[in-house]
Amino acid sequence: MPNEQSLLNALSTVKYPGFSRDIVSFGLVRSATLNSGTANVQLAITTSDPLVPANLKKNVEEALAEVEGVSGIEVEIAVTKPKSAPPVQPGAAQPQTTSLISGVKKIIAVASGKGGVGKSTFSVNLACAFDYVLNEALGSSAVGIMDCDVYGPSIPLMMGVRGRPTIDGESLVPLENLGIKIMSMGLLVDNDTPVIWRGPMVNKTIQQFAQNVKWGDLDILVVDLPPGTGDAQLSVAQNIPLDGAVIVTTPQEAAVSVTTRGAKMFDKVNIPILGVAENMSYFLNPANGEKEYIFGSGGGERAAEQLKTSLLGKIPLDGAIRQGGDMGIPIVKSSPTSVSSKSFYEIARKILEKLA
Ligand code: ADP
Repeated sequence: MPNEQSLLNALSTVKYPGFSRDIVSFGLVRSATLNSGTANVQLAITTSDPLVPANLKKNVEEALAEVEGVSGIEVEIAVTKPKSAPPVQPGAAQPQTTSLISGVKKIIAVASGKGGVGKSTFSVNLACAFDYVLNEALGSSAVGIMDCDVYGPSIPLMMGVRGRPTIDGESLVPLENLGIKIMSMGLLVDNDTPVIWRGPMVNKTIQQFAQNVKWGDLDILVVDLPPGTGDAQLSVAQNIPLDGAVIVTTPQEAAVSVTTRGAKMFDKVNIPILGVAENMSYFLNPANGEKEYIFGSGGGERAAEQLKTSLLGKIPLDGAIRQGGDMGIPIVKSSPTSVSSKSFYEIARKILEKLA
């Protein structure tokens, strides 16, 4: 018997006309249901080209006809016209030819269900850890970090960069420090400007970040998402061709449900979850070398289990990690042989293996 998952599997073979990405991962499928063998699929797209819906309808019908047990097919496509002539609308596909992320080999997002779990701290150290393990393995590395945490951009501070990015033609040139390329909303607004970004503004910013940053050739780009699972996260998922997402959590029981709820969004847009990273897992007592589980234990394992993914590793609660963030030199760069740095390398290696 077919089920809704088999419909989604079939739909994820349908590419948006003229693009390399499928309609499920673009978030264009509003619903896909089955009723006594009849598949009912609703799509919502933004285009001014009448050929696109016609083409899509045909391709969707063909894909659904392949699903065993489907006897009837109903496809509805809601078309919204672009307001002016912007290059991309939320939920619309981005032409590959104009993608300025084309020199970037892999793009991963770092997400968390809520703020304060150390997501940004994790992102900067992960970027530095990719730099370390790639250099170790290949003798060279090119890594970038994109701070999409438009509500509270902290990456510039943590990476020790200030000043405005320069502009080359229509593109922003990322700043660079410690061998990592960096772009953040925090570099574009004044320190004391309150950043009250409303939904549409967030979408716009993320689209611009996705299209107008001159990253050059990168082995990997780490995207620091805003906390939570609202429109901002969805907008990233729809505008940036992500290869996967890493979910950061803490060991507390209370963090598990919000983590798993948050991560479900990636499933909906067909972005693989690469694993869970547990931050502030334990405090390594310098007096006796013992691990103290200040925030409890088991949260990372349980979140990974519930998300049917693996626990990539545990990062200790370490004063030097906080200091690194405050001073603008992530611990992976300042103390590359520390226990904490090694926990980041382990996670970076596992992610690279999964992406390979
Ligand atoms: P988020 O991005 O999830 O809001 P941050 O990365 O800003 O969280 O971290 C919140 C605070 O916790 C920061 O002061 C940071 O330095 C600190 N912090 C994060 N991870 C650790 C850790 N493993 N050990 C010690 N302090 C940490």
